[in-house]
Amino acid sequence: MMEWLDLRSDTVTRPSAAMCAAINAADVGDDVYGDDPTVNRLQEYAADLFGFEDAVFAPSGTQSNLLALLAHCGRGDEYLVGQEAHTYRYEGGGAAVLGSIQPQPIINQADGSIALADIASYIKPDDFHFARTKLLALENTINGRVLPMEYVQQATQLAHDKGLSTHLDGARVCNAAVKLGVSPREITRGFDSVSVCLSKGLGAPVGSVLLGTRPFIKEAKRWRKMLGGGMRQAGVIAAGGLYALEHNIPRLQEDHDNAAYFAGELAKMKGLKVSTPQTNIFYVDIPQFVLKGLEDVLELTRIRLSLSQRTRIVTHMDASRDAIDRAITVFGDFFG
Ligand SMILES: *Cc1c(COP(=O)(O)O)cnc(C)c1O
Repeated sequence: MMEWLDLRSDTVTRPSAAMCAAINAADVGDDVYGDDPTVNRLQEYAADLFGFEDAVFAPSGTQSNLLALLAHCGRGDEYLVGQEAHTYRYEGGGAAVLGSIQPQPIINQADGSIALADIASYIKPDDFHFARTKLLALENTINGRVLPMEYVQQATQLAHDKGLSTHLDGARVCNAAVKLGVSPREITRGFDSVSVCLSKGLGAPVGSVLLGTRPFIKEAKRWRKMLGGGMRQAGVIAAGGLYALEHNIPRLQEDHDNAAYFAGELAKMKGLKVSTPQTNIFYVDIPQFVLKGLEDVLELTRIRLSLSQRTRIVTHMDASRDAIDRAITVFGDFFG
């Protein structure tokens, strides 16, 4: 039976044999007591890799971002965030529900940035009519786009000059680093905290790390416990995350190359409008009237996509060049 090719997201990867071996060999302890040596190693390794004082392992990126928002902001505070940002749109309103923190969403520019003038103009004056503006939250990559380094420097500088803290939702920040050919330390410079997903393109089964100063991470650990994220022998999953950081960053280039190749081939087909991928994510506009027929063909040929008129395609380590070639043939036959 043909293997399924799943291009809905880079969250779908399974742990490789080598990662499973690392998981199997993991030394564990009770992490709520701080006794899990593998979790501790992951946190130390991540802090050093990204150039932060400390780190905390969280079960998901949603929780990791929430820990950051809760640690940066209090009741009645607000954070500036892009309209398209995950922390605003796709995290169930957690900061508002659980932290009484108000988002101030701001339109994203075409490159995914928030205009510097918008950042400046949305910071509220010190007046009891307004929520207190405490934090600027950016995302990199954002829908597969890489924020320019110069922009990040200017935006974080502006925020700091105005007395705000800065958080990066860096779920896919390693894709951004690989794209620009810079180190994890360089790509996260200027941020007071960064959340990194281990379970996306890096290929670990579960988990994210939140990075920050020692006192900030201490505060985040308190919130993590309160939210039910204090895990016991979590070394079992942390081992996969550690393996991912140690081995899987440079290979993200393959995912970017596969996305560029796939997008290029799709762009040649009649009726399809294809965005140019910067990293491992791109979008294909597909005419409404062919969607049902295409869905049936994809089911038969064991290709999984979140099909819509604007279909997002995501490449990852379990989507080989051969599998992409197979998908190109299927699309070519359908649209040819
Ligand atoms: C996936 C993702 C998250 C959240 O991660 P989960 O582990 O799915 O909760 C946060 N931000 C961005 C940009 C993401 O892509």
